[in-house]
Amino acid sequence: MRRQRPCLVCSRLTRNPSRCDTHQAEWQAQQDQRRGSATRRGYDSRYRRTAAATVANHRASVGDWCPGWRRPGHPATDLTADHVVPLAAGGSNTASNLAALCRSCNAAKRDR
Ligand SMILES: [Zn+2]
Ligand SMILES: [Zn+2]
Repeated sequence: MRRQRPCLVCSRLTRNPSRCDTHQAEWQAQQDQRRGSATRRGYDSRYRRTAAATVANHRASVGDWCPGWRRPGHPATDLTADHVVPLAAGGSNTASNLAALCRSCNAAKRDR
């Protein structure tokens, strides 16, 4: 069995070579961003976590409200995370490129 080592970031003991699972994931995300492979891989579990956090933050600040896509803002309970700059146009899966939109606005935007 491998000896546990402290995570380089938070010093929590881990069986990973250098970082705990959380920080390994963060580090991996940074590496992916540099390589741009996060864009190619698209919707992975890390993205889903970021997307969920985006919607949660949006709800915490403005509630069940969709800012609208080519139509005025409106109440919406089916908020999803939308890529501000689409992946196809070189956008990333990072929180800074995500904003909350309801499903119908998100679909309308995708179909444009
Ligand atoms: Zn850590
Ligand atoms: Zn909407």
